[in-house]
Amino acid sequence: AKAAGRDALRFFDPQMQAQMAERVALEADMRAGLDSGQFELFYQPKMVRGQITGAEALLRWRHPVKGYVSPAEFIPLAEQCGLILRLGQWVLRTACERLAHWQEHPVLGQLTVAVNVSPRQFYEAGFVPQVLEALAGAGADARRLRLELTEGLLLQDVEDTIAKMVQLRGYGVGFSLDDFGTGYSSLAYLKRLPLHELKIDQSFVRDVLTDPNDAAIARTIVALGTSLGLQVTAEGVETEAQRLFLERAGCHAWQGYLLSRPVPGLAFEDLVLAHAAA
Ligand code: C2E
Ligand code: CA
Ligand code: CA
Ligand code: CA
Repeated sequence: AKAAGRDALRFFDPQMQAQMAERVALEADMRAGLDSGQFELFYQPKMVRGQITGAEALLRWRHPVKGYVSPAEFIPLAEQCGLILRLGQWVLRTACERLAHWQEHPVLGQLTVAVNVSPRQFYEAGFVPQVLEALAGAGADARRLRLELTEGLLLQDVEDTIAKMVQLRGYGVGFSLDDFGTGYSSLAYLKRLPLHELKIDQSFVRDVLTDPNDAAIARTIVALGTSLGLQVTAEGVETEAQRLFLERAGCHAWQGYLLSRPVPGLAFEDLVLAHAAA
C-alpha cells in the first residue's frame, strides 16, 4: 500500500500531469486531423549516379494552431496510442495513389516511392493485405513500391518479419533497412532478410569529413552492403564534400538537402522534370 501511495504521488506530480494532458490533447488533435485532411505527404528525391530514381514519402501534419508538427514528435505518440495503424494505412494509400499517377507519365513512370513503416504497423496481422489493397486500390505497380523498415523490427519476431517480407517480395515490393547502424540488428539476420537497400543513418553522414569514426562506420556500411549485393544509400547529405566522400567510398545513392528538402508532390514532380530536361 505504501508503494502504491508513492506511485500515486508520482502520478499526480503537477509537471507529469501537465505533460499527460498535453499528450492526450495532441492525441485527440491527431485523430481529428486525420479525419479532416490535415496530414500530407512530402517527397524527398533520391539520387543514384546523378539521376533522380525515386522519392521517399515523409509525413507532415499541418496542425490548425501549431502549424507544421514534426513526425519525430507525433509518430512515437501515434505508435503508443495505436493511431499509427490508421495513419500508416493513409500513408500507404496516398503514396500508392501518387505512384499510380506517375505511371502514366513517360519520365515520372520510372520512379519508385519509398514508404516508412513503423514496427507496430508491420506487426499487425493485416499488414500484408493492407499493402496489397493500397496497391490494388490505386492501380499502382508493386515493383515501384519500397518499404523502409528499421532494425527495431528484428528485436521482436524475426521469423514473422521474414515471412511477411518474403510474401510481399513475391508481389515485387522492395525493402530498405533504414537508419542502419543505429539499432541492434545482428549481422546474422541481415543475410536472411530479402532486402534491396541499406540506408546509412544521417548521424554518420553529418560529420563524415571531420570524425574519423563516422568515416570508418560509413565506409564499413558501404563495404558490407555492397558485398551483400545491396544498394547502399546515404541520407542527410547536405554538402558536395560529403557527397564526394561517400562516392569515393563506393556509395552512389544519396538523399539530402544538397539536392532538395522533402517537398509537396507537385513540387517534387516539377523537380524531376526540370532535372531530366537539364
Ligand atoms: P527517416 O525515415 O530517417 O527520414 C529522414 C529524415 O531526415 C526526414 O525527417 C527528412 O526530412 C530528414 N532529412 C532529409 N535530408 C536531410 C538533410 O540533408 N539534413 C537533415 N538534417 N535532415 C534531412 P522528417 O521528415 O522530419 O522525418 C523524421 C522521421 O519520422 C523519419 O526519419 C521517419 O522515421 C519518421 N516518419 C516520417 N514519415 C513517416 C511515415 O509516413 N510513417 C512512419 N512510420 N514514420 C515516418
Ligand atoms: Ca526513412
Ligand atoms: Ca532514415
Ligand atoms: Ca532517422
